[in-house]
Amino acid sequence: MSSFRIGVIGAGIIGAAVARELTRAFPTAQIVVLDKSFGPAEHQTGHNSGVVHAGLYYEPGSLKARLCRRGVELIKSFAHEKNVAYEECGKILVATSAAEEERLLEIFRKAKANGVPGVELLRGNEITRVEPNARGTLALHSPETAIIDYPGITKALLDDVQAAGGKLIFGAEVQSISSPGVEVEVTTQEATYTFDYLVACAGLQSDRIARLAGGEEYPKIVPFFGQYMQLAPKYEGITNGLVYPVPDPAYPFLGVHLTKRVDGAMLVGPNAFLSFGRENYSGFSVGIKDTLDVALTPGFWSFASHNLGAAFREIKGLASPQRFVDGAAELVPSVRGAAARTLPRGVRAQAMDKDGSLVDDFVIEHVGRTTLLRNAPSPGATSSLAIAEYIVKEIQRSTTFTTPPVHKDLS
Ligand SMILES: Cc1cc2nc3c(=O)[nH]c(=O)nc-3n(C[C@H](O)[C@H](O)[C@H](O)COP(=O)(O)OP(=O)(O)OC[C@H]3O[C@@H](n4cnc5c(N)ncnc54)[C@H](O)[C@@H]3O)c2cc1C
Repeated sequence: MSSFRIGVIGAGIIGAAVARELTRAFPTAQIVVLDKSFGPAEHQTGHNSGVVHAGLYYEPGSLKARLCRRGVELIKSFAHEKNVAYEECGKILVATSAAEEERLLEIFRKAKANGVPGVELLRGNEITRVEPNARGTLALHSPETAIIDYPGITKALLDDVQAAGGKLIFGAEVQSISSPGVEVEVTTQEATYTFDYLVACAGLQSDRIARLAGGEEYPKIVPFFGQYMQLAPKYEGITNGLVYPVPDPAYPFLGVHLTKRVDGAMLVGPNAFLSFGRENYSGFSVGIKDTLDVALTPGFWSFASHNLGAAFREIKGLASPQRFVDGAAELVPSVRGAAARTLPRGVRAQAMDKDGSLVDDFVIEHVGRTTLLRNAPSPGATSSLAIAEYIVKEIQRSTTFTTPPVHKDLS
């Protein structure tokens, strides 16, 4: 049977979810996933905290707030269906001062507005009912926040794509995108593929792919790394779930927290500092082009000058791993002095506008027959299946595939 072809760039969790959703919405279409890596989930998806966020922090009505709540529903049932590790261990956000209490109450208001189930406030000693080792003056408890195996979910999504007849091509770095007619031509170092529609979910490279496809110059990706330390095995079980600080409103990251992984490991992190390289996971493989790109982004210096305090705090943690771990001891005193080892970093694809403001919400751009996911920071993994549902509905609404099918051998 003749059919149309849809290409997806990126085999992280969002590209994988989009490809699977496309196989369901367009059962006769030929779906092709292209990724420059040699396997799935090699970038942000494989280097994150593994938390299924419940939707506490996000501006009510924003895409983030809506797609996070829908995403939790979808990913929870998909994890159960595919037997991928998912544990509803719960989370507390702990305030330790009057100023933090005020900000915590604002987060509580947003959580309620976002319909997050079961959230409650715990005062003083009530905190130990949920987390016996945590200390603070006020805490917000979210019992349904969960941990998950995101690479496992990505693999299961791609297995579904293949089972539906889709094709995965790894080691395929997209180098150019053009639209000579109604079709979209995508060229890698090895081949040119012709599609009737293209969706790009390229994470840390999303702005560059967007430019190749004729998208806007801004927002640009500014990479922020997050360092994690794994505590010695004797600290496993020191918390029942996740223990977070109240985030600094001036710095749009969640703050160093204690995170349980699905394999039981106890992590402290991630901090957030400018990464000298978009894929610099060791800290030593500095990317000259990536660094120059940041330096030449006009608003970056304004952002940097407004965040000197936060940068100084992060540098102190980077300079001393023990200080980094001891930061978490402000919330869970028994981890003070804990032995810990450094894990590979995660690097966040954070979009920045021309004026230096960090883009908070998910950004999805459409250029002709191409949809470009431009900004999908945390809770992007939580929201992945909902982002896919949203993008595919938009494609269904806006596109009728009336062009003659193209048949080029992809093997
Ligand atoms: C430190 C950190 C902690 C986080 N914690 C959480 C959390 O606990 N919960 C949560 O919900 N979210 C979290 N996130 C966010 C989450 O990881 C991302 O939102 C999500 O992984 C984005 O998925 P993606 O598929 O868009 O991107 P990625 O996983 O980065 O995948 C993009 C893919 O595109 C491919 N690609 C790029 N350029 C090209 C090209 N030119 N040609 C072909 N392929 C290309 C890459 O190889 C890659 O495989 C965290 C992120 C970080 C970095």
